[in-house]
Amino acid sequence: MSAVILDGKAVALGLRAQFRVQTTALAARGHRPGLAVVLVGENPASQVYVRNKVAACEAAGMFSENITFAADVDPARVVERIQSLNRDPRIHGILVQLPLPSHFNEAAVLAAVAAEKDVDGFHTENVGALALGNPRFVPCTPKGVMVLLQTAGIDPRGREAVILGRSNIVGRPMARLLLAADATVTVCHSRTRDPALHTRRADILVAAIGRPKMVTADMVKPGAVVIDVGINRLPDGSLCGDVDFAGVREVAGWITPVPGGVGPMTIAMLLANTIEAAQQAADRAAGAIAA
Ligand code: NDP
Repeated sequence: MSAVILDGKAVALGLRAQFRVQTTALAARGHRPGLAVVLVGENPASQVYVRNKVAACEAAGMFSENITFAADVDPARVVERIQSLNRDPRIHGILVQLPLPSHFNEAAVLAAVAAEKDVDGFHTENVGALALGNPRFVPCTPKGVMVLLQTAGIDPRGREAVILGRSNIVGRPMARLLLAADATVTVCHSRTRDPALHTRRADILVAAIGRPKMVTADMVKPGAVVIDVGINRLPDGSLCGDVDFAGVREVAGWITPVPGGVGPMTIAMLLANTIEAAQQAADRAAGAIAA
């Protein structure tokens, strides 16, 4: 039997109406949500991601500013620009598109983003808040996976969840969210001796490794929920995930496609976090007036 497709594109589209309502309400209070996207260099994939994010903001009625720098820019200039965005009242969320060129200290640039505008959830303060179980801004991709599971009525409680990948962007925050949702969580990485030993036990399997079609049908427990975060470009120019979709869909109970699965949810959660940041700014301003 073929798996149920978890259609992230449709779920993200459904959220758009809700975002518009929230944006309109905040704009009426003088806090139209605004997102600044900082892009350094000409990485074609990053350019596509940035275009999609800016277009999604505009479709939701939000303000957006796209700031680009040449690849050889002095990192100090980028940090200065981020600091001016931290002070800009029109901007509630600041996203630095990764990866940055190799002469950058990525951590130092991310640390320059004010924690209350860190809608990507990469700032140490926000990472710590998530680790302590008191999240403010949760990284968009794992947050999107949780919303996708929830929308499909899949409750992680008591289930075996296995995550392939331990990056700060996907694997680690994914593990924290699934743990917070009471799953029993295993994280595999490039040094894991036999990933298949773990993946075959998974009720929920999340693949976030960046290896085209590495997860094959024999690695998947029948009926499992398979979430494919990977985005890989094949030599023929087409996109594929970390999961061998054609084979795995015959074994899994649920599966996300690539494209059209986790990707659109990531963008939707970026909008959700920016709206949340604008809401917090509006509440702070209201509190300051009342005080
Ligand atoms: P990273 O390269 O930062 O991390 C990859 C992780 O996979 C590392 O932890 C690495 O282990 C682990 N890994 C590599 N090979 C194996 C293996 N053979 N078995 C088990 N683990 C392995 O990638 P990201 O987390 O940033 O991204 C992962 C994928 O997700 C990429 O394809 C990326 O394009 C995609 N992505 C998609 C998004 C979306 O919106 N859909 C958003 C973000 C990313 P180790 O730590 O030991 O090196």
